[in-house]
Amino acid sequence: MRLNGFTKHPKIVIIGGGFGGIELVKSLKKLDGEIILIDRHNYHTFQPLLYQVATGSLQAESIAFPLRKVFNDQKNLTYVYANVLNINSDSNTITTSDGEVSYDYLVLATGSDTNFFGNDQIKHYTMPMKNITEALNLRSMILQNFEAAFVEEDPEKKQALLNFVIVGGGPTGVELSGAIAEFRNHVLAKDYPEHKKEDVKVYLIEGKTELLAAMSPEASSHAKEDLKKMGVEISNDVHVKSYDGELLTIDNGQTIRTKTVIWAAGVKGELPAGFKPGSVTKTNRVQVDTINRVHGYQNIFAIGDAAAMITLETPMGHPGVAPVAIQQGKQLGENLLKIIKGQDTKPFIYKDKGSLATIGKNKAVADLGKIHLHGFIAWIIWIFVHLMSLVGFTNRLIVFLSWASSYLTYNGETRLIIRRFNTKEMKVDPDGN
Ligand SMILES: Cc1cc2nc3c(=O)[nH]c(=O)nc-3n(C[C@H](O)[C@H](O)[C@H](O)COP(=O)(O)OP(=O)(O)OC[C@H]3O[C@@H](n4cnc5c(N)ncnc54)[C@H](O)[C@@H]3O)c2cc1C
Repeated sequence: MRLNGFTKHPKIVIIGGGFGGIELVKSLKKLDGEIILIDRHNYHTFQPLLYQVATGSLQAESIAFPLRKVFNDQKNLTYVYANVLNINSDSNTITTSDGEVSYDYLVLATGSDTNFFGNDQIKHYTMPMKNITEALNLRSMILQNFEAAFVEEDPEKKQALLNFVIVGGGPTGVELSGAIAEFRNHVLAKDYPEHKKEDVKVYLIEGKTELLAAMSPEASSHAKEDLKKMGVEISNDVHVKSYDGELLTIDNGQTIRTKTVIWAAGVKGELPAGFKPGSVTKTNRVQVDTINRVHGYQNIFAIGDAAAMITLETPMGHPGVAPVAIQQGKQLGENLLKIIKGQDTKPFIYKDKGSLATIGKNKAVADLGKIHLHGFIAWIIWIFVHLMSLVGFTNRLIVFLSWASSYLTYNGETRLIIRRFNTKEMKVDPDGN
């Protein structure tokens, strides 16, 4: 039986079990219908702590949680492990790696991916860090380069192995450069006594005039000050021109010989194919109205990083942060229940509770409305917020214990090269050797 063109027991297909997708599924608990959640990973990733996996402070499993376990008790949900390739809106179906799935309502919660701005050379040679696989690749590469520097006799090649460049001075770039600087300042002498601290260089390159440009001027300047004290060499207002796996060239004429360049300089929406070109913005997000309905479609919605809700207040869409995805997921769930019952919907209004970024031990910055905090207090808030946001009690406990141990000793146990990363091919060696 059809109701408003859809079945009475509607089938809602959600692509993506990230921050937005999980919240949406939870808010559809009362749906008298069927929910299909499709994700190409069988786990939810807590991206804000990826940099700690990449720098060997946390084990990968502690920041991930199996999606099936999240929804053990939700009877109207079916989880499908598949990659969604295409949206076929004419037939209300999607094409996945494992066949076609039909829907009455479709929600895209696919998040974002690294933006290399069309530069294939930079895409090939630099390291992105958007998911657990990439964080583990980065961990292998950093550790392998320390090991390779140990046996390298040519001083120039040795220095290239010990030069670490991070491109992008947003929260990810700031957190990564702080973590690598802490590794150099506290771990190096224990694990690699053969390398001198001053030989290891950490460079942070940012195109804007300040770091953490989306945060307050106070946060930006404290972050810069702290990183400089930790020995990070910061260049603002400059752009990377090229990198060929050996030499990085910046548009101010500076060159850095390096074997490690981490690309944290931009993101774009992660979308399956099949959307009408007019619905997709320049940064590859789908444009949505104030109830997250995709422009040009009746029964397709998008939330979180994949969506751009362009209004007078948000001309670029909302920021790509977890609270936006979580709040949109919750509200879209409530609105879908209303749409199905033929009731009025409620427009989305983002409640911004503030921004946080950590720089290192006892060092963080926090913008909480008009209050700007930095140092130890901001760091404690950062710890509390991140621990409480992790999915699963065991994960919280493991992360808490890892942090407590690192706080006292700086000596985590996850500095393992489990999958050797081939730095010429820029991929994991298939035989694992
Ligand atoms: C390194 C890093 C640090 C960050 N730090 C912070 C922070 O400190 N604070 C903060 O608020 N935000 C932070 N963010 C941003 C935050 O993680 C994102 O805004 C948030 O994850 C967006 O949620 P989402 O639900 O839109 O997408 P995601 O959480 O990214 O989830 C998308 C899901 O979709 C799945 N998927 C994608 N495409 C397909 C497909 N075709 N088929 C099947 N499945 C698919 C993915 O596997 C993934 O599980 C950080 C992001 C990164 C990368």
